[in-house]
Amino acid sequence: MPYQLTIQRPVETHGVGLHTAVRCHLRLVPAPADTGIVFRRVDLDNFEIEAHVRNVARVSYATSLMKQGVLLSTVEHLLAALYSCGVDNVYVELDALELPILDGSSKPFIELLAQAGIRKLRRQRRYIHVIKPLEFSDGDRRIGIYPADEFRVHCFVDYKHPNVGPQEVEMTVDRQSFSRELAPARTFGFMKDFVGLQAMGLIRGGSVENAIVLDDEGILNGPLRFADEFGRHKALDLIGDLALVGRPLKARIVAHKAGHALHTQLVTRLLADHTLWTETTAPHDSSDSRPSITDSLSATS
Ligand SMILES: [Zn+2]
Repeated sequence: MPYQLTIQRPVETHGVGLHTAVRCHLRLVPAPADTGIVFRRVDLDNFEIEAHVRNVARVSYATSLMKQGVLLSTVEHLLAALYSCGVDNVYVELDALELPILDGSSKPFIELLAQAGIRKLRRQRRYIHVIKPLEFSDGDRRIGIYPADEFRVHCFVDYKHPNVGPQEVEMTVDRQSFSRELAPARTFGFMKDFVGLQAMGLIRGGSVENAIVLDDEGILNGPLRFADEFGRHKALDLIGDLALVGRPLKARIVAHKAGHALHTQLVTRLLADHTLWTETTAPHDSSDSRPSITDSLSATS
């Protein structure tokens, strides 16, 4: 029977925000069962913002949460790591409005979780098990969610750039597969957008240290970590946004040239229509691998 997980001990890191360039300390703290993932602005009297789609504020170049006017930006890379590792309950303490970008991937967060260790709680996990498909599109961008007995993503990107042609990633997501195949994939940006984005107050903390930078000819700061690192990073972003369901998913998600806006719309529409899913505590079949994730994560701590 899968039980809810938290972390064993507090861990912390720090860095600058990608868009604000503001320095931020981030601390993960164990939380009791049924807490979910809850952000705490320690600079604002521990104001709490739940990692739930109802708190989504803005989704242009990053996913931001807002509650009662308090903003929290660029949550997706940490959420992707927590969700893939099956961490159901944790407090994320921050002293600024944007999470540190670190190296632009989820790898530093995976390492932080290995340091924290994983603790099993005495409460069963409650999955959102999708039983009916939901799909929609916006121009040539499409997204859909379909019944499945595991958590599986299929992501397709196609940027008009010689180094980022069509790239496709499809995989069942768990701690092992995510850590190996997706977590190291870094965010990326195009030089031609740089000035415009900075004028909009974005990517002020962006640098060749925390993003793959492309110009018309190629990659300014290679080598890539994967030949298809762009497609892999979009899959990582998708998982981070799906975490805003607030529960583990048993579903297959297909995203075709989608982005944060479509990802979060999918979550909103899914949760709003209770005929599309059931809530289940038991794994659908014996292939559920999460108990062994607990064991292997504990072993590395
Ligand atoms: Zn990203």
